Amino acid sequence: MFKPFAALALGLLCLPFLVVAQTVPSPASFLGYTVGTKFTRHHQIVAYFNTVAQAKPDMVKIMPYGKTNEDRPLLVAAIGLPENIAKLEQIRKHNKGLVDGSVSDLNQPAIVWLSYNVHGNEPASSEAAMLTLFALVDPANTKTKDWLKNTVVMIDPCINPDGRDRYVNWYNNAVGNFYNADPAAREHMEPWPAGRSNHYNFDLNRDWAWQTQVETQQRIALYQQWYPQVHVDYHEQGFNEPYYFAPAAEPLHDVLTQWQKDFQVQIGKNHAKYFDQNNWLFFTKERFDLLYPSYGDTYPMYNGAIGMTYEQGGIGAGLGIVNESSDTLTLVSRAQHHFTTSLSTIEISAANKENLVAAFKKYFDNSRQGATSTYKTFVMTAKEPHALEALANLLKKNDIEVGTITNAASFKAFDYATKKEGDFVNEGFTLAVSTAQAHGILARVLLEPITQINDSNTYDITAWSLPYVFGVHGFASKEKISAQSGYSVPVVNISNSQYGYIIPYNSFKSAKVLAALLHKNIKVRYAEKPFTSNGVSFEPGALIVLKTSNQDNWAIDTKAICEAAQIQATAVSTGWAEKGTDFGSPDIRVINHAPKVAMFTGDNVGALAAGEVWNYFENQLNYPITQLNYSNLSRIDLNVYDVIIAPDGAYKDLIGKMVTDKLQAFTKKGGVLIALESAAQQLSNNADWGFKLKETPKQDKLDVNDVSKYGNSVKDALQSSIPGSIYKVYMDATHPLGFGTNGVYYTNKQDIAIYEPSKEVWNVGVVKKDSYVAGFVGYKAKAALQEGVLMGVKNVGMGKLVYLADDVVYRNFWEGGKLILANAVFLNGK
Ligand SMILES: [Zn+2]
Repeated sequence: MFKPFAALALGLLCLPFLVVAQTVPSPASFLGYTVGTKFTRHHQIVAYFNTVAQAKPDMVKIMPYGKTNEDRPLLVAAIGLPENIAKLEQIRKHNKGLVDGSVSDLNQPAIVWLSYNVHGNEPASSEAAMLTLFALVDPANTKTKDWLKNTVVMIDPCINPDGRDRYVNWYNNAVGNFYNADPAAREHMEPWPAGRSNHYNFDLNRDWAWQTQVETQQRIALYQQWYPQVHVDYHEQGFNEPYYFAPAAEPLHDVLTQWQKDFQVQIGKNHAKYFDQNNWLFFTKERFDLLYPSYGDTYPMYNGAIGMTYEQGGIGAGLGIVNESSDTLTLVSRAQHHFTTSLSTIEISAANKENLVAAFKKYFDNSRQGATSTYKTFVMTAKEPHALEALANLLKKNDIEVGTITNAASFKAFDYATKKEGDFVNEGFTLAVSTAQAHGILARVLLEPITQINDSNTYDITAWSLPYVFGVHGFASKEKISAQSGYSVPVVNISNSQYGYIIPYNSFKSAKVLAALLHKNIKVRYAEKPFTSNGVSFEPGALIVLKTSNQDNWAIDTKAICEAAQIQATAVSTGWAEKGTDFGSPDIRVINHAPKVAMFTGDNVGALAAGEVWNYFENQLNYPITQLNYSNLSRIDLNVYDVIIAPDGAYKDLIGKMVTDKLQAFTKKGGVLIALESAAQQLSNNADWGFKLKETPKQDKLDVNDVSKYGNSVKDALQSSIPGSIYKVYMDATHPLGFGTNGVYYTNKQDIAIYEPSKEVWNVGVVKKDSYVAGFVGYKAKAALQEGVLMGVKNVGMGKLVYLADDVVYRNFWEGGKLILANAVFLNGK
């Protein structure tokens, strides 16, 4: 029973804050410690948000949006004045109406979305999230109530709970009774793989557009229900750095509007006011650019918001650390800085609510008119439907509408293959994307052949044009090309067979079918030469599943797997080929068991690189893989595996005697060793493996008139830099590693590593003088990347070494490369 008098009496007896605490607990009263004096584990953060929502249901609505790989809950809290929370759905629909053009009046609050702790070991921001939540609902705080008249605030307290808890649980076990501020202390040296990434070691701040990870997939689905006007992504940087906030650094993509740039300046000045009052240092306009589209700042920018990254100094700092100014940086102060910019962002957004909503509407009005793109329609074409399907799916996940060209359209357009204007030629299937649509600006950013950049000192890759990434033939037209809405692969119709099936092998989808068949213990044959059967002609790599040597379930399973993948398998009743090799030919190879695949991981291996391979097998190819700690190699029998993958890494003793003997014994007995990126480079340093890195052109003698200036050090470094650019790789499509590629692969080149052609190896993927396609490459790097081998296969005894210079499973969105890794695993040839 509620007794007003008793409550009043209690209030008189206790300190006033306790009265508040009974209704809305502060973080300190809920947790039992001042925020920043301990690390708060994720479940406690969630509990605090739920408790506040229960105490203030009229101001806080929790929107759970899913779970992480390790089953931690994901949520966003919407915070507003009671009148706005009561009509939250109405506000959401009104806001979406500005995006799709169905609403014209601007009378709504601005949506400010704050995303905390995307990188798990940058943990101060989730602590700040609790302070921000409390400040917004605390009845004693009248300022925030004023701001909430004009805003609805969305707080995602932790984008990456698995990474956060990995860091926090480790730190809590490493720290003693008191923190040790000595930077050399164990508590500041986080072990592999560190908490930055999610469960599969993916960097979630590189995944917004690609959505390869469950956290991103679920979050973007909610984000797209809203599309905020302001989005902040909270980070930490090295602990010696001060605080970074907007405005962002060059390069900026040229689709960004003057308003987006101007408002970043306004926000930055508002933050600077508070930082100056407290004598806190900060920097702006440096280092953090707005280009790569898959960040937590650019992705919102390309979707009409003011997207920003804020960075506190703090990685590795624990609860306290002595920095280079000989000051002790504490988690308390790191959380306070993020809390300050959180409130300052809401304040300045509230003060500019009309402008924010109007500019947001204008952004989407322009986008729907296609006003910001020279190209009006992008048309992609391919001989088979599945690479286009994969691209269509990615575009749809980004709210981009797709279509197909119905007629035998004839038009001139920029041809991505020749990099010149030319006639469009329909190769069989088409995917068309108009830039005149709500998300046409994002479509342009993702699909345009060349990203316009004015400065190349960027944090990330400078080219991601999706027709190249997906290995389909792109055309960019300055005219609007009419298209029919939607894209779907033709419905397959697979007959029953008593003899066998032929499955075309021409996209990553085919490789997934192969993986599924092998996983079901079905023996699969593949053709090394083209052939014609039942009136259908097949390219090398075509899969053949026969009743011969298989169990009873072979036909039902093969048909079901192909139908699920929508791959048209051809039922055959004879091993006779009308053209080319019959099924009994020595040119038809058999995969007589599902290969057992293992990979090196742990210390020595790049955490993100290991994650890419792990996630590729588990969530893309859907094929089992065993993770082997490289540091335990001496205790592991490699002979139980068929395939070993060495991802990018700084391996200790990879070319030492013990490891070399072990790996060579493995390959000589028939094993396949696949060395990626720097693992391949390290092997090439051992003559026993028989392949060599190409030497980079020798530096000219230094001229006294041409010596570097200290002030130009960044610019000079760019001359040798290649942060991530697209090169055309000429593939030998007659070699199993090149099957299904049509002879071309567009690689993401991130370094100048390139191998000597050799008669001792199969030089399957080579770059030539005309291979450069798009992205920034410094002139010295360009000179080094003239001619050479990027993918080689060397017979070693009965087995093989496959060396791949580049990251073929880059962030698991570089679709073209996924087929190549599958080829290396499954199709070993002679
Ligand atoms: Zn970060």
